[in-house]
Amino acid sequence: MDIIELAKRRGFFWPSSLVYPPIAGLYDYGHIGTMVKRKWEAAWRAFFLGLDEYYYEISPAVIMPEQVFQASGHLEHFVDPVVRCTKCGHTERADHLVEGVLKEGFEGLPPAELDALIRQHKITCGKCKGALAEVGVLNMTFPLKAGTGAEARQAYLTPETAQGAYVNFRQMFDVARKRLPLGLAVVGKAFRNEIAPRNALVRMREFTQAELQIFFDPEKQDHPRFAEVAKHKLRILPAGGKEAQDAPCQELANRLFPFYAYHLAKIQEFFLEVLQIPRERFRFRELSPEERAFYNRLHWDIELDLPSLGWKEVGGLHYRGDHDLARHQEVSKEKMTITEDGRSFIPHVLEISLGVDRNLYALLDVCAQEEAGRAVIRFPRGFAPFDAAIFPLVNKDGLPDQAREIKQRLQQAGFSVFYDASGSIGRMYRRMDEIGGPACITVDHQTLQDRTVTLRDRDTMGQVRIPLQELAKALRSFLDGVALEKLGTPLAKSPSRREADDE
Ligand SMILES: [Zn+2]
Repeated sequence: MDIIELAKRRGFFWPSSLVYPPIAGLYDYGHIGTMVKRKWEAAWRAFFLGLDEYYYEISPAVIMPEQVFQASGHLEHFVDPVVRCTKCGHTERADHLVEGVLKEGFEGLPPAELDALIRQHKITCGKCKGALAEVGVLNMTFPLKAGTGAEARQAYLTPETAQGAYVNFRQMFDVARKRLPLGLAVVGKAFRNEIAPRNALVRMREFTQAELQIFFDPEKQDHPRFAEVAKHKLRILPAGGKEAQDAPCQELANRLFPFYAYHLAKIQEFFLEVLQIPRERFRFRELSPEERAFYNRLHWDIELDLPSLGWKEVGGLHYRGDHDLARHQEVSKEKMTITEDGRSFIPHVLEISLGVDRNLYALLDVCAQEEAGRAVIRFPRGFAPFDAAIFPLVNKDGLPDQAREIKQRLQQAGFSVFYDASGSIGRMYRRMDEIGGPACITVDHQTLQDRTVTLRDRDTMGQVRIPLQELAKALRSFLDGVALEKLGTPLAKSPSRREADDE
């Protein structure tokens, strides 16, 4: 299915500022996309902040002073290798260009070595075959000036939410009971001047991250609740491996350490049970020492197998040691050392990092299906933009008034409900299927007689009749995962037959 086309047509997302020539890598969310994004973020918060009573969310500014990025190393190291055509001026990422020609992965190779490969294999401009200039680097942080005149400060848009947590560690540690582990979560925007943004929400220049920085005592590598996950089987692709395999969490705890393995298990639980990603579409990929950043002692990517793009990284679990706080202590001269159990040390950091937009793209891609006569997005019921839609069977005979009244009551009970009376019932069902609405409620002539409505399941197209006074309770159960047939009296006609009649 064409996800990009569907996303635009149904109100999920599209290129930003679309009445003007768009800037690549910037996207606007419509009302449907915004609602799904909110639900995804709420689910992320409920799950990850729920892992420990000392995991908190904070909201740092996205404009940060230059010193932050001197300390983090972004000004020096956050660069991509670029190569420019001497004839047409086209610029592209040198590693991507070489990969495209030699059909081999070269991400992370130093510019000089990429340059040597270009000369050795006589690689030319991808657009005009012109000669290429020497491989250079482009820093991806967006600079800006905050203030004016003599007071102007050199600043940057943050390229990752993590720095907001690191610069707030000392302050948060002091106000939040002075104990470890301390988790600081940020769900917020990050900005990177990518040379080649691509695949819609997968590689963007402005994007949303959901990250949790866990500050812990490096001498306490156990986790108090590790026993709960010890027997879980995790889907992993070890460094250098070819095929994903199942590994007992205990085995990974022995090889890595229990505190790290516990969080791997919880991340998998979030993807398989909360987001309901099929197991075969999920894996952790271990990065080799050559692949990972020098400060990461352990780095496992979270990857999903997407119908439209294949395996894509949607997040990671990074053990960053004391790198971040030690660097901020060095540059700021503020003390990051804490004292616990009679020992003074700089806390270590475990980072759970997820890209929100690329996860939304992945969820849409995995859930979107085309089947006989319809396109349907099988979002987990709790991730749909609306909990339910309500339709009058016909736009007369008092049915619209009755439907609106039911809508109002459901909204008062806390449901998000969509009302539509603008076409045949079959067409209204199709539109709901295409935005992933899990339930449709139809008000018909029988409703006026016996105070019952029909409830339709997006996935099976099955329908049951439910008394109005039980509707809110039935809808709650349905959204919690109870099968439709358990909630009311099934309609006699087969669902497909009935919908064909309604068209
Ligand atoms: Zn060229």
